[in-house]
Amino acid sequence: MTEAIIGLGSNLEHPEEQVRTACRELCGIPGTVPVRISSLYSSVPVGPQDQPDFVNAVALLRTELTPELLLDALQDIENRHRRVRMRHWGPRTLDLDILFFGSTVMDTARLRIPHPEFRNRVFTVIPLLEILPDFRIPPENIPLRDIVGSLPSRDLEALSIIRKNP
Ligand code: ADP
Ligand code: MG
Repeated sequence: MTEAIIGLGSNLEHPEEQVRTACRELCGIPGTVPVRISSLYSSVPVGPQDQPDFVNAVALLRTELTPELLLDALQDIENRHRRVRMRHWGPRTLDLDILFFGSTVMDTARLRIPHPEFRNRVFTVIPLLEILPDFRIPPENIPLRDIVGSLPSRDLEALSIIRKNP
């Protein structure tokens, strides 16, 4: 079993419900068990600002799947949420990203792991710190808590918990 960290996000069509439903749907992925899920957070958009705020969370899973099969399962869930892919970093009903997959490092046409934007984003770093305060970022093994100081302060100030138990 590999420990995988998933980032969840939504800013369209009742985002809080989209993320809460997706958290439950993670239980239905074959060969996979959700271990811990963060609170739901509200965050300001990255990229285009003329769009609603996001609801974000992160989940720790244990899985027997390969990264590719896990991505297939996550994209099935995204598709069930009628996700329409529009502009880059634009609004979406549900976005599910693999942030980490054990200590795997990969860069293929379909998958980049660790997720290249992970450490620039308060809505991935802070929720992960909530569920795994001692997490160390692979492959360098840097303590997660050490990068909080380098996050954009405007984004940090805007981040808030909107619900404790998704
Ligand atoms: P983004 O999440 O960057 O806003 P999308 O969700 O639209 O963009 O994803 C576009 C593509 O990103 C997916 O089809 C997938 O193949 C690819 N991708 C690359 N690395 C990852 C990853 N770590 N997790 C999820 N998708 C990824
Ligand atoms: Mg994505």
